[in-house]
Amino acid sequence: METNQHACQCRQQAHSIPETMKAWVLGDPDELVYVDKPVPEPGPEEVLVRIDAIAICATDLEIIHRGPPALIQGGLPFNRNFVPGHEYMGTVVRLGPNVDEFGIGDRVAVEIHAGCGRCERCREGMYTSCLNYGKNYGDQNKGHRANGFTTDGGFTQYAVNHINTLVRVPEDMSDEEATLIVTAGTAMYGLDSMAGLIAGQSIVVMGPGPIGLLGVGIAKSQGAQPVILTGTRDNRLEIGRKLGADHTVNVGRENAVDAVQRITGGCGVHYVLECSGAPNAINDATQMLMRGGRICLAAFPAQPVTVDVAGLVRNNISMFGIRGEGRSAVHRAAAFMQQKRFDARLIHTHTFGLEELPTAIRYARERIDDAIKVVVKMPR
Ligand SMILES: [Zn+2]
Ligand SMILES: [Zn+2]
Repeated sequence: METNQHACQCRQQAHSIPETMKAWVLGDPDELVYVDKPVPEPGPEEVLVRIDAIAICATDLEIIHRGPPALIQGGLPFNRNFVPGHEYMGTVVRLGPNVDEFGIGDRVAVEIHAGCGRCERCREGMYTSCLNYGKNYGDQNKGHRANGFTTDGGFTQYAVNHINTLVRVPEDMSDEEATLIVTAGTAMYGLDSMAGLIAGQSIVVMGPGPIGLLGVGIAKSQGAQPVILTGTRDNRLEIGRKLGADHTVNVGRENAVDAVQRITGGCGVHYVLECSGAPNAINDATQMLMRGGRICLAAFPAQPVTVDVAGLVRNNISMFGIRGEGRSAVHRAAAFMQQKRFDARLIHTHTFGLEELPTAIRYARERIDDAIKVVVKMPR
């Protein structure tokens, strides 16, 4: 009943799409300006999405503060009328020519990267590693798109998106939870890159940030056993337990390598998903793994780090880097969430309105009130 009403409202609103929308654009570094922008028009293979909610990501904070990895017209994203934000969901309100894959009123989460669709990596499904990144302007326009990175993102009311980036949201999932689908998709891509099927195998997830915590949920959903989560904050480790961690290790109180060896009876684990960015993470991971183990790197250390390469070689360790949420991993992560295999809502801690974005960003950046995922809801 409620769902039907929701769909009806969407169809009515589809007839009343305004010509302009409120949007936060990036001025100088750390300066966001609330402006009016024209509502964009969907082209072929595209739809117009009314954004209903968007989560703030650490990469947004990086872009707003320093610029990269955003790349607008070949340069830094400052003072280019650019809208950041990339972890959003919403409702399809207008269809481009010949689009029949989606209908008006469909609720969707949106993958960040459409890529260019024409380079070697895009053709392989690695559209997050598109070789034409940022080439979407002037005489080198290859049509590359990545929301909030090389094209306008989601700290606004409407956005145009390629149909390949859309993931249906189950009717009984809230807007807030649906913003976390892409984060779960990134964790899924990390596990995909290491193996794909890990039932009965063991994994350490290092770092209980959003990707690490949802990585726990994804690993558990795939049947990993045991799932061990390491970190420094007890409240986040506790959330990790609720998401499926069999063991948690507070590295402030116990040496993480010793703890993993103790838990596994000295065998070590099959996989490490590294989400901490800690300077010694790779060396610790090498010592946590059994020979032939695999490490997936999903976090950025702030500085170059020293790695014991001999340890990697001696133990036949493989390392994988992931960039974003490629190979349709977001669809598979969404399926786990639809099946309620883990409760992603546990990492959503705060909600603000669109006009409160600067406050929302402050909560995310300073982790005020133990903020993990801060979500911005759009006005209706
Ligand atoms: Zn993100
Ligand atoms: Zn490409």
